[in-house]
Amino acid sequence: MCDVQEEMIPKPKNNRSLKEGFCYKCKTEKPDLHVRNSDFCKSCFIDSTIHRFRNNLMKIQKGNVLLALSGGPSSMCLLDLMSNFNSVDPVNKRQPKYPNVHVCHVDVSLAVPQIETDIVDKLKADVERRNFAFSSVKVQELFGNSTTVIAKDDKTILLDVSEDASPESRLIKSLDSVSSLSSREDLLNIYIKKSIINQAIAKDCNIILFGDNSTLLAIKTIALSAKGRGVVLADEIALEHIITPGDKNISVVKPLRDILGKEVAFYNQFKDLKPFNNANLTTGLKKDCSIDRMTSDFIIGLDEEFPSTVSTITRTAFKIKAKEHSNLACSLCDAPLDEVSKFAEIMGEEVKKQTWKDGELPINHVLCYACRNISRDLKKTLEKKSLSGSLPGFVSRAAMKEQIQDYLIE
Ligand SMILES: [Zn+2]
Ligand SMILES: [Zn+2]
Repeated sequence: MCDVQEEMIPKPKNNRSLKEGFCYKCKTEKPDLHVRNSDFCKSCFIDSTIHRFRNNLMKIQKGNVLLALSGGPSSMCLLDLMSNFNSVDPVNKRQPKYPNVHVCHVDVSLAVPQIETDIVDKLKADVERRNFAFSSVKVQELFGNSTTVIAKDDKTILLDVSEDASPESRLIKSLDSVSSLSSREDLLNIYIKKSIINQAIAKDCNIILFGDNSTLLAIKTIALSAKGRGVVLADEIALEHIITPGDKNISVVKPLRDILGKEVAFYNQFKDLKPFNNANLTTGLKKDCSIDRMTSDFIIGLDEEFPSTVSTITRTAFKIKAKEHSNLACSLCDAPLDEVSKFAEIMGEEVKKQTWKDGELPINHVLCYACRNISRDLKKTLEKKSLSGSLPGFVSRAAMKEQIQDYLIE
């Protein structure tokens, strides 16, 4: 399969013009686009994209698939490629590798009002036309105890809000309680990811497909490093990594990892796929409003002048391997957690002498470095007492207690 990929994607330095003025691949058609330093006709380009997608999915085991669909360009491309991958071959009638595909949309319109109100109906119609099952969950459902799959026990939930606070008001309060837009983006991304994982558990899916393309992964590489989330970088950009929510093994896969953002746009244009959602928290704001937005503008701008930018970043980043890390997980984002004492060193606190009474559990000691930055952002705007009130139910009291057990006064 590697041969196919190398054959379909010419290396950037080989500016091969085997027959000038014609498609690099078939050498008979006039080219429709120039990408990766070569000219392609529409048909050869679509074949190349399908081959790269198939090549990646063939490396993954069989199972029940949950496809995460935001409605943005990359996820619409993912949906179409999956639909193509799953279609029964009319010649040999071979059955699809993944007969059970569930498409899940997380509705974030409460947090991002620019998103069109009828997006769920449009996505549902598009997905069902392709004979996939569809569900949509509102991101604020994460704040309602009944839908929190990971922390089922109400007693373990640390929330200092009145019982009658609605999930809607709790989500808005949570996002409003951080002062920087970068923290707000991080929180919303964590909530979206958590919602998708909860759906995968609820729908009994052991594979989750995300639509991150090569350009998005290059942006992620720089942005995660800048935000102190380097510990998850290797997993976040890998073709496949395993997560274990609630002792269930789920494989998280990014089959568009070798396809550039520009190629996604061409594919969508040629296949007449219309993205339903291009809005996010930074839509309409200045370029320097958040780390993610700034990084995105920087990488995309640089790539226009130097077209090897994305592939240089990703080729280097794909070599990164995560060091052995702790089994403890951050209560907010699930990233591996450093030891409490290590945290304390970074923070300049004398943790070994410090103890807490049950009931005064320090939330910072169960958060990873980057989430601690978010919590410091929370502290600026909230009374210390209600700090945890802005976090959803999965930041559990039981998990916190277990992780700092050695420092508690019985
Ligand atoms: Zn061609
Ligand atoms: Zn974290």
